[in-house]
Order: sequence, then C-alpha cells, then structure tokens
Amino acid sequence: MTVLEGSHADQLAAFQREERNFVYGRLDTGDPWFLSDDEAIERRLFVRENVLCPVPDCDTPQLTTVHRPVHRDHLRHLSKSAIDHAAESVFHANACALIKEWLDRRYPKSHAQREQWSDNGKRRADVMLTSEDGTARIAFEIQYSSLSVLEWRQRHDSYREQGIVDVWLFGHNGHHFRPTGDDAVKLSDVHRAILKSGSPVMWLNPVIQLVGVAWRDMPLHKLVGTMVTAAEMLPVLDPGSKPAWVNLLDLDAFNVARDGLHSAWLDELVENTRRRKEHNEAVQLDLQEARARAAEQEYRDLLPIHQVPQKPMPPQPIVETKPPPLPSPQLRSPAVDERAARRAREDQIVSTAEAARRRIAEHYGPWHGSDAHLAAVSFFTSGAPELDEHWQAEAYFELVAGQQASFTVGDVARVAARRSELPLASSTSAAAAWVDRLVRHGFLTYVWRPDGQVQPTGTGRAGGHEFNRVVRRP
Ligand SMILES: [Zn+2]
Repeated sequence: MTVLEGSHADQLAAFQREERNFVYGRLDTGDPWFLSDDEAIERRLFVRENVLCPVPDCDTPQLTTVHRPVHRDHLRHLSKSAIDHAAESVFHANACALIKEWLDRRYPKSHAQREQWSDNGKRRADVMLTSEDGTARIAFEIQYSSLSVLEWRQRHDSYREQGIVDVWLFGHNGHHFRPTGDDAVKLSDVHRAILKSGSPVMWLNPVIQLVGVAWRDMPLHKLVGTMVTAAEMLPVLDPGSKPAWVNLLDLDAFNVARDGLHSAWLDELVENTRRRKEHNEAVQLDLQEARARAAEQEYRDLLPIHQVPQKPMPPQPIVETKPPPLPSPQLRSPAVDERAARRAREDQIVSTAEAARRRIAEHYGPWHGSDAHLAAVSFFTSGAPELDEHWQAEAYFELVAGQQASFTVGDVARVAARRSELPLASSTSAAAAWVDRLVRHGFLTYVWRPDGQVQPTGTGRAGGHEFNRVVRRP
C-alpha cells in the first residue's frame, strides 16, 4: 500500500507526478505483467524473452528493464529506435493492465478482459468485468485523452442501454487532473456531468496504485424565518461550482459490486449526497410556504383586527335556478327598484375590483412571490358597501397604487367621505388613523410640505394639522 507523505497539496502533487514509464508489460497470453521496484536487473532476461509492450498494436513490442538507484525501476522498448509512445498511451496502458490484474486477483471467478467489445459492437471497454454467471458486466474506462461531455454522454448512455455499468477512472496527469494549488482540483464539464448522473469522479495513478475521489463538505440548508442559511456541513460527492477536494485511497480499499465501485467511505459519500439533495429540496419548499405566509400576514396586519379576511372560499358549485318571473312594470314596488339599484352598485363594485386587481398586478407583479395582495384587494372590494375597507380600497387605488405623487390625509378623507357618506370631519379622523397604520408598516411615509399651503380643514377631533399632513410612497 502506498502512503504519500507531506501536506495534502504535496500529496496531490505526488499523485500527479509524471512517471512516463512502463511498469506493466504484457505476456503472450495477453495477461499483464508487473515489474516491481528494484527488480530490474534480476528480471531483465525474463522480460526480454517473455514480456511485450502493453500498447495495443505496437510495432516494436520487445521490452527490457531499466534499473534506477533513486527512482523507480521500469520497462522500456528494447530497440533504441523504437517508437516513443505518447505519455497518454504509456499511462493508459499501465492503468488498463493494473485494473485487469487487480480484477483477476480480487475476482478470480469473474472474467476480466482488455479491449472487450460490447454486444452491439459500438463500445469497446478498456477492461470489461463479467460476473461468473454472465449476468452482470462492468465496463472500466480509463480516460487520459480529452473527452467532451457529448462523447461521455454517448458512451455512458450506450453502456447503460446494454445493461452495462460504466466506471470512469480519469488519468492522474494531463487533461483531467488539474490541482488548483491549494488542496483542491478543478472539475471539468465532463466531471460535473458524471456527478450529475450520481456517480463519483475518480482518478487513477497506475504506478502508485492510488485512486483519488472527488468530494467536498457542503452545507445542509436550514430555514430561519423567510431566509435559508447554511447549517451543518456534510461531506458529499458533488462540490457544486467549487473545486473538489480529493481523497487518495489505495485501489485495494475498493471492491466491485453489480452497480460499480464501492468502498466504505465512498458509500457514505453517496448516501450523504442523496440525503443532502432531499433535505435541501424540502427546505426550498418550506421557504416558499414561509414566504407566502409572511406576505399574507403582512397584509392582514394592515387590516382592522376584527376584519381579518378568511382563507378564500373554494369555488362554489353552480346551481341552476329558475329565474323568478319578471314583475310587470306597473306592479314594480319601490323595494324592487331599490334591490335593482343595489345590484347595479354591487356589479359596479365587482368590476372596480377586477380593474383594481389588474392594475395592482400589472404595477407590482407578484409580491414576495405571493398573490396575497390580490386576495386582499378582492376582500376590500367585494363586501358590503358600508365597510371601511371600501373607502380604504378606493383611496388606496386612487392615491397610492401606481402613483408616485404625494397626497394629503385630506385627500384620503375626501375619498372616505365620498364613499361612506360620513361627514368630512369623521372621515378625516378615520383617514388619519388609516394613513398612520400604512406609515407604520412602511407602505407610506410622511413628508414635509414645503409650501405650507393650508387646505380646507375639517372640524372636531381631526384638526387642520392632521388634514394637511402630506404622505407619499417611500
Ligand atoms: Zn510499444
């Protein structure tokens, strides 16, 4: 088992360090052959006679060993003029050989094969593990070369359609492993696509046989009033838009199940990731409800305490009734005329309410994500005509909603007087109380009137001072 020394950043640097040398060769049988460190001299003859270059279709496959006193022993092509494989090919060959050898060792009854084509001939897995009874297949993809999200998605979907679980191990070096220098590793679009699919992002260093797993502490959300804050932190697979932290685990810490790679720690991350997603989604729903409740409460606070609107009634079933026979004109009583007049007035109220609703919705849009203000409008304008709320609603739409100009308590009192048929003096005290309430809740603010102009005053409790107080929207 390899243990990397130093700080985490040092370990990531060591994990990434280029070892562009073969440590694996291939036997005639296709099986991988591993050169242990400091065995180069001892094994040289065997290698020259039996071990071939692991890169597929190599033109000069004969190998020999290289002994280095400080660095690790490795294999190289026997012929000096042999092709010099790109680093990616060398790493890839080492990694594929390692995975095949590891699977052979760990699961001797299953069948691990290099470069195995899938059933439909479209996919060729770097290493395919087939269970003893043939019912489960895991495709190991070792990825050193660049890979677009589209390419990954096509391969992933193709494997899954064939009932094959694909396990992606990215190269420890090159395109796919980009340390940020401060203990973290940048994730690419492909990495994020893999995380989104619910799988971990992993890197393999085949020389030191370590697997890096991306993870990060991410917050569980908590609802405080109508705000979401971060509560406890939970280690999960997906760092969101942040760089990932990387835990380096020995390959032997993992095992393979029908659904892919497992380790005790990896399983915990997978479970945490699921738990966090569910938890934070539930908090978001709670937040919506809390905001709607708060908006409703804010509006209720504006209303006289004994006239808090009830929850809107569910729509009533329409009952067809026979219209009463029309009285002939000569028989119409004064009572009937009065009823007709009241109905006309009620119709007028309803259409005013509709217009008001449209106006307030157009002007303000949804208020704190809720339609509570529209419900309040409907309450204001649909009850019995003598309610205070009627003149309040009318004053609100005439003077406040959609208006930028300032107005006076007297202006409000005039609306109240017109609507409620109260004497102007009584209307002034009612208007002043109502305006006060709106100011307290921050809907209106008192402003100084520079011209000192005196308006007609009421008499009684509400004096001229009150009548001339100027208010406007903050
Ligand atoms: Zn070669």
